[in-house]
Amino acid sequence: MYEKERQELVDKISKNGITDVYVLKAISEVERHKFVPEALLPHAYKDVALPIGYGQTISQPYTVAFMTQSLKVQPDSKILEIGTGSGYQAALLYRMGAKVYSIERQFEIYDRTRKLLDELEIRVNTKCGDGTIGWEEFAPFDGILVTAGSPNVPPSLQKQLAVGGKLVIPVGDKVSQKLRIVTKVDVDKFETVDIPEFVFVPLIGKEGWKQQ
Ligand code: SAM
Repeated sequence: MYEKERQELVDKISKNGITDVYVLKAISEVERHKFVPEALLPHAYKDVALPIGYGQTISQPYTVAFMTQSLKVQPDSKILEIGTGSGYQAALLYRMGAKVYSIERQFEIYDRTRKLLDELEIRVNTKCGDGTIGWEEFAPFDGILVTAGSPNVPPSLQKQLAVGGKLVIPVGDKVSQKLRIVTKVDVDKFETVDIPEFVFVPLIGKEGWKQQ
């Protein structure tokens, strides 16, 4: 179902600069329409963010692809995602062969997505909680992907990154953010690249925005 629409989406984001063949392959295989509310099915393969309820969104496919490409995922990489949301990003990482850990703050979203992932047999480790403090128990991670905008880079996430790993996080105010790609080059040494102009819902937590 929707194969043609999915291929058109892949062509579009590839024209817009996504070159990682593993990311493009995962997008051509993961059925985004299973992760959007039924009423929005006709829009599932448009390159736009869509509401998923509770004031949250499934991110724009181009943005998801860009962030995933920036992580440089290898099969068997251990990846921590902050902001499970619909589960689409986690499903892509899983399809790429990563070992995925994902944290969602809102219980209703966590619960609904946990059931969906089980139904689709997407084996991702999830928990409901504040992702700004990471998931110490399973650290270090080869990659950490934050799918909500933060005022800063949470120190706990930097700490839980493996040497050589990448942390991809939107940083800015609540209106717009830069995508910050942080590479841990040594235990206490980080290199940072900022890509301008992204918009995300806020990352709320101890090391993010305070509760509204
Ligand atoms: N990755 C998601 C997907 O594929 O659908 C997109 C998620 S949406 C843009 C961002 C999510 O981050 C929301 O579901 C929101 O509840 C969650 N969030 C915000 N602050 C959080 C925190 N501190 N810890 C975990 N999740 C958080």
